[in-house]
Amino acid sequence: MSTIKERRPAVDGWFSTGSGGEGVRLLGTRCTSCGTPYFPRNDLACRNPGCTGPKDGSELEDYAFSNRGRVWSYADARYKPPPPYVAAEPFRPYAVAAVELETERMVVLGQVVPEVGVADLEVGMEVELTEGTLYEDDDAEYTVWMWRPVK
Ligand SMILES: [Zn+2]
Repeated sequence: MSTIKERRPAVDGWFSTGSGGEGVRLLGTRCTSCGTPYFPRNDLACRNPGCTGPKDGSELEDYAFSNRGRVWSYADARYKPPPPYVAAEPFRPYAVAAVELETERMVVLGQVVPEVGVADLEVGMEVELTEGTLYEDDDAEYTVWMWRPVK
């Protein structure tokens, strides 16, 4: 008899799993003065040279990114990445996509869901975030954000 394994984020705090119903979202921070978003999160100071905030440091607040965008570029990952990157054993080739987020116009890299390969991707294609399994062990499945084409 098989048991359903617990699903855990492979990295804590980088994305929300959409259990609240608003979908999988990347989590970062945003400058409260100029609105510049940061992913991964930046808690030190706004790096925008044109920031309109106070010169002694602006405030950064928690920010959830838009979960749709368009493929800016993509590639085939045919070989297992070296440590410290983790991958499933045995390694299965996958596609990676650099996606320009709809709202922030920022390009974010991510794996593409396993059932979609480079032959299925095109620059400009609309994709959305979902959660997928990066690897598993005896205790759990460890998940990351992944891109999938919008139907
Ligand atoms: Zn700023």
